[in-house]
Amino acid sequence: MSDLIRSWVQGANTPETEFPLNNLPYGVFVAADGAPHCGTAIGDMVLDLYALEEASVLGFAGSLQTGSWNAFMALGPTEWARLRQTLTEMLREGSDTQAVVEPHLIPRAGLGLLMPFDVTEYTDFYAGKHHAMNVGTMFRGSENALPPNWLHIPIGYNGRASSVVVAGTDVIRPYGQLKGPNDDAPRFGPSQRFDIELEMGAIVGQPSTGPISVAEAFENIFGYVLLNDWSARDIQAWEYQPLGPFQAKATATTISPWIVTAAALEPFRTSTPEREKPLLDYLTEPGPMLYDIALEVGLAPEGAAETIISRTNYKEMYYSSAQQLAHHTTSGCPMRVGDLLGSGTISGPTRDSRGSLLELSWGGKEPLTLDTGETRSFIEDGDTLTLRGGAQGDGYRIGFGDCFGTLLPAQLVAGLG
Ligand code: MN
Repeated sequence: MSDLIRSWVQGANTPETEFPLNNLPYGVFVAADGAPHCGTAIGDMVLDLYALEEASVLGFAGSLQTGSWNAFMALGPTEWARLRQTLTEMLREGSDTQAVVEPHLIPRAGLGLLMPFDVTEYTDFYAGKHHAMNVGTMFRGSENALPPNWLHIPIGYNGRASSVVVAGTDVIRPYGQLKGPNDDAPRFGPSQRFDIELEMGAIVGQPSTGPISVAEAFENIFGYVLLNDWSARDIQAWEYQPLGPFQAKATATTISPWIVTAAALEPFRTSTPEREKPLLDYLTEPGPMLYDIALEVGLAPEGAAETIISRTNYKEMYYSSAQQLAHHTTSGCPMRVGDLLGSGTISGPTRDSRGSLLELSWGGKEPLTLDTGETRSFIEDGDTLTLRGGAQGDGYRIGFGDCFGTLLPAQLVAGLG
């Protein structure tokens, strides 16, 4: 485990900060003139990389003089490493460029954060075994909980890039076709079983046009975000056979405001759990490609204090993002810069480590009691759900910023309300 790299920036050396110099996560913020600027979070501040690029201090072919990280990602891993190295030198204690950099620091508190990159495509996986077992047990019984393909294939579906939103964006309760097991016919109305899924998102930073290996896939991943795959369970239950989720997952997917790079997570690499059945060669991991990242979910009713409803860890995943990406390319499917891969819901082995309300309340049969005394089976209007994640180093912590969203009431549909 590496040590804290000390910085001259205010707030960067405390054990509590999510943004020590070891992190250098990439985001996009609203500059004083209202324009979106690329920046990096450091301690209590954000460094305006757009401005540093404009002033010819950095030299990355203008790729940072934008409001999105896609152009920079397209430059490739050599340039990714060069920017990280350059910023580390500039912000390190005793740096001789402090006077040049300091005017471009902006207090992070209250700063508006935007989508850090343009999501070109979005795929979501189902690669957490505890989650698949829990959901399978609820719907098919414990005998047939795991589908027969599950231990062989990272199962996924093609999602919607258009509804991926940055933390802080409100989510509106969706309408849809609902049909309970005892209903004769479906009806149209607001989802009554709206839920979260605690996931990590991997961001593809290099394009590919044919099958790539797991090792190549690992190198092509630029970084990671926290990801909440909002899910309407009642819409899902009726629509999913035989082609899988569609409208149930299309309302919104919230990501954290900061992309934590694969380079920052390097000291926290860990292996996927032991294989229960050997994987086909093309899916075999050549080394540890998962990360030890502690995760939690908070639920705050409108105007009330938050309760932490789940604590788990990314290392619970059965398949790594590199394995998922390699599998995705086997068909010849081209991957593009800005492709987003959801990991699948990250549940742990215990009740308090489940990554969705569906599991936490066991399909609504065992409602959760919040610290306020209220109970929840699914999300109520006005609830704010927050995902947090952190990799714990020796005296420092690598964080992503809060991945949060508030559920607003369903909006009446003309003629159907
Ligand atoms: Mn999901």
